[in-house]
Order: sequence, then C-alpha cells, then structure tokens
Amino acid sequence: MISELDLKHLNRCVELARIALNNGDEPFGSLLTDHEGNVLIEDFNHVSGGDHTQHPEFALARWAAINLSLEDRANAIVYTSGEHCPMCAAAHAWVGLGRIVYASSSAQLVQWLEELKVSPTPIYNLAIEEIIRIANVDGPVPELAEQVKALDFL
Ligand code: ZN
Repeated sequence: MISELDLKHLNRCVELARIALNNGDEPFGSLLTDHEGNVLIEDFNHVSGGDHTQHPEFALARWAAINLSLEDRANAIVYTSGEHCPMCAAAHAWVGLGRIVYASSSAQLVQWLEELKVSPTPIYNLAIEEIIRIANVDGPVPELAEQVKALDFL
C-alpha cells in the first residue's frame, strides 16, 4: 500500500536522482525516514568518481548502522527512486533496516537499459525479495516510474 506520505518521499527521491544526474552521476536518489515519516538523511548516487559501490541505499544503510539503534533501524523506512541492487539489498538486511518503498523496479531498469542498448551491469539485477529473506517492500509506482524512466540513463 502506497500512502500520500510515501508518494511525497518518492517524489523527493526522483528529485534527488535528477540532482545526481546533473552532477554527472547515475540517476538514483534515496532517503531514510523514521517510523513517523520524518526524514533522517538523504543521498544520491556518487559513482562518477569511479567507485561503483557509491549507491545511496548503501550509504543510508551504513549511516543507519552508525546512528540508529537496532529497534529504530527496524522501524525506519527507505524510499528510493530505483529498487535496491543486490549489494544495497544485502546491506539493508545486514544492518536490519525495515520497509523499502521504490518508484521503479530493477526489472524495469533492465528493460530500459535493453531498449537503450546499454551494456548490462556486471551483476544480476535481482528483485529485493530474491536477496532479503523477509522483505517488506512496496513498488513500483507506475506514475513515478515513468518519471524515473524519463531521466537519461545513458
Ligand atoms: Zn545499489
């Protein structure tokens, strides 16, 4: 179930993805909220320096591990413009974060990259549920996924 508050946070993630793109990075943005929906931290993709592990979801997981109790992590929600890659899904689960809400799915990303004839990434774009045993996940959200697709993935 996607609420109005979820949509608000997802819209911000798409904005963050646009900021990343304008910085020369890949168009992905994410944010972490507490259980009341207060934004704790935002981030976006930073791979243009050559480190392709600089994904926002990974950064949020590390931030949570340092700054939140186990209970607060479990109650926190990660919003993201694109579904977590396997690396980020694993980091999410290892630090014990809670729900994930994404605008566009990994399956959609794979399809878009194929349409653009972009060579595939070095890892399989698996769904979060294929990485995390007990996943609490909502997405994709069609109208926002269209906005994500409109960002230039080349
Ligand atoms: Zn990732």
